[in-house]
Amino acid sequence: MRPYILAESNWKYIKGQSFDLAILPWGATEAHNYHMPYGTDIFEADFFASETARIAWELGAKVIVLPTIPFGVNTGQADIKLDINMNPSTQAAIISDIVATLDRHGIRKLLILNSHGGNDFKSMLREIGLRFPNMFLCSCNWFQSIDKRQFFEHEGDHADEMETSLMLYLNPDLVLPLSEAGEGVEKTNNISAFREKWAWAERRWSQITADTGVGNPKAATKEKGKAYADAVIEKVGKFIYDLAKMDVKEMYE
Ligand SMILES: [Zn+2]
Repeated sequence: MRPYILAESNWKYIKGQSFDLAILPWGATEAHNYHMPYGTDIFEADFFASETARIAWELGAKVIVLPTIPFGVNTGQADIKLDINMNPSTQAAIISDIVATLDRHGIRKLLILNSHGGNDFKSMLREIGLRFPNMFLCSCNWFQSIDKRQFFEHEGDHADEMETSLMLYLNPDLVLPLSEAGEGVEKTNNISAFREKWAWAERRWSQITADTGVGNPKAATKEKGKAYADAVIEKVGKFIYDLAKMDVKEMYE
């Protein structure tokens, strides 16, 4: 039993414990090019939550990892078979119930550790935070914590070289040979404002990519995956330690 993982813990242990920070890993269930499993974002969420919590715990922070939520916002992939969409309003209801539980039991900080680009918790945390003034709520996209270009040749944001390398490191038995992967070519929007990203519209996934991937995975290796994962764990683990130790009344200087 890892003492910072709620799903592995028992009542005998938990009833005598106090925690400063709860970590809620959040994934998605969706196609990842031809070669990677639907649960890729879930495996990543489980891995990064448990490993970053381990670092923080070993430094002396009282953190507890909640079970991973397996479904994300996939509204733009409605026509891709068995991509399971969870609407933002459903996510907000789940967060609200979890925050109420944490608040009741005196765990006053929550970090949502997000693995899926379609999930955006900002407006939810603003609204729920207003209802729970004793709670500190925040979210973190681990995939934005480190500049990927230090580790990978090809850009991308879904089932790309980074994600494929990670899965070759974490769950190689679930990755098909790279010869079976598509190229992950993304079509660009005809309107420059969207390309330049100062205007936003949801991408219609089946129109922008033929194989569901965005980013060429062919140069992925297990070694790149490990090097990148180690860098993310170190940086996000330190962040989680700081968050657990932070005095919410003395956050700014
Ligand atoms: Zn993914």
